[in-house]
Amino acid sequence: MSAARPGIVYLVGAGPGDPGLLTARAIELLTTADAIVHDRLIPPGAVHLAKPEAEVISVGKEGGGPSTPQDDINRILVELASAGKSVVRLKGGDPFVFGRGGEEALVLREAGLGFEVIPGVTSGIAAPAAAGIPVTQRGMSSAIALVTGHEDPSKGETSLDYEGLAKFPGTLALYMGVKRLGSIATSLIEAGRRPDEPVAIIERGTFPDQRTTVATLETIAEVAERENVKAPAITLVGEVASLREQLEWRERLSLHGRKVVVTRARAQAGTLADTLTGLGAEAIEVPAIRIEPIAPGEPLDPRGFDLLCLTSTNAVDLLFERIEAAGLDSRSLAGITVAAIGQGTARALASQGIKADIVPERAVAEGLLESLEGHSFKRVLIARAEEARDLLPDTLRERGSEVTIEVLYRTVTEDLSEVEVSAVTGADAITFTSASTVRNLIGALGGADRIAGDSPRLISIGPITSEELRAHGLEPSVEATRHDIDGLIEALVADSSR
Ligand code: SAH
Repeated sequence: MSAARPGIVYLVGAGPGDPGLLTARAIELLTTADAIVHDRLIPPGAVHLAKPEAEVISVGKEGGGPSTPQDDINRILVELASAGKSVVRLKGGDPFVFGRGGEEALVLREAGLGFEVIPGVTSGIAAPAAAGIPVTQRGMSSAIALVTGHEDPSKGETSLDYEGLAKFPGTLALYMGVKRLGSIATSLIEAGRRPDEPVAIIERGTFPDQRTTVATLETIAEVAERENVKAPAITLVGEVASLREQLEWRERLSLHGRKVVVTRARAQAGTLADTLTGLGAEAIEVPAIRIEPIAPGEPLDPRGFDLLCLTSTNAVDLLFERIEAAGLDSRSLAGITVAAIGQGTARALASQGIKADIVPERAVAEGLLESLEGHSFKRVLIARAEEARDLLPDTLRERGSEVTIEVLYRTVTEDLSEVEVSAVTGADAITFTSASTVRNLIGALGGADRIAGDSPRLISIGPITSEELRAHGLEPSVEATRHDIDGLIEALVADSSR
């Protein structure tokens, strides 16, 4: 495997929509190409992989507008590759399955330009799979036909052979809009396909808002109309569609279809957003705050302290960078009692090879102080954020310790774009993981009233965060009983199934 080479067009399949279904090769090419020419229906975030100086050209239908004519797309590809650029032509699903990839390859060959084809996960198989429908099943279906349902001769597609499709001994996967569903279903029945054969329509397969509608060939058009089924959708005709009843999995996930805002700092948003996505939610990552290290690269020597308190995962990461800058490693913590404020911080420590000695039940300063009660530490080092509360150092001093505070970072606000603001106000829930995320999000939104009321639901990680919400006139919809990320997710899931 290697980076994108100059003067070549890569015809890349982006898969059906879930970013996790981009291939490793697709990601590698997206991150290294000079230019990306993409369709509209591609995984969210796929083009954000582009290097900053890459040219990104959309040739899909944007907001109902017209798509770029195929001749123009061909010309763009030829021009870019001829200019010596490495070009990714990114298409939904697989580039050679109803994706006109073959036509573009012919044009490139004709122009004497190099191309490579990177297959993608095709929606006709992936969308059923995500709906819990295996397209083949022993004893039920031993063949699958990929069929395009358009009959527009100007698009160069041949009209459907209904006799042939009716006789086809297996599953039919129809790639098409839903407008012509009625006439196609009727024609299939007239040609001899069983009226009571199961049919499933999967809209936006593998996206967080995927929806599946099941009926029979005879009733599907009516049911689809009633349910307001919309493109993009795969219509699957075959006995296998009946397996959904037992095998449905994605739409059962506890947060399926829920839009949840993650307001953590960018460097950290990953894990919470990933967990939410894994539970079926659409995680809307709003970079309301950013971690700004203070004095990065300055050596920090922890030797000589008796107790080290860490109050966030950021603090752990930055502390170790600073220890490394002093020419030391984790052995410099030998003999020091290490206290982590919560499980997340303890996990960050574990990944540095350090097992926390103290992890309180309640992940707040009060909880940590409780756990430390009865022990006496002469010299204490607290590694933390600039905006952290003073309760921990003040109380430890009262208890007779000599406390050193090492301020490792501050969190700074990032302004939200209009699009981000409406994503936040239109979400089902907003997660708040600290008092500063409350302040920063409200600041970035330009006021608390935009998220007041019952929707979006406001999910608070704990009492301090809730207090901050109340200080802005907002009542948390729920507060986590365990004050860490796992506890927050638990509270969100419980709230979603109200
Ligand atoms: N090359 C693509 C297909 C392009 S044709 C592939 O291999 O998947 C466009 C049609 O694909 C749409 O009309 C719809 O029927 C189907 N399609 C694409 N993405 C889809 C998705 N996520 N869910 C359901 N159908 C999808």
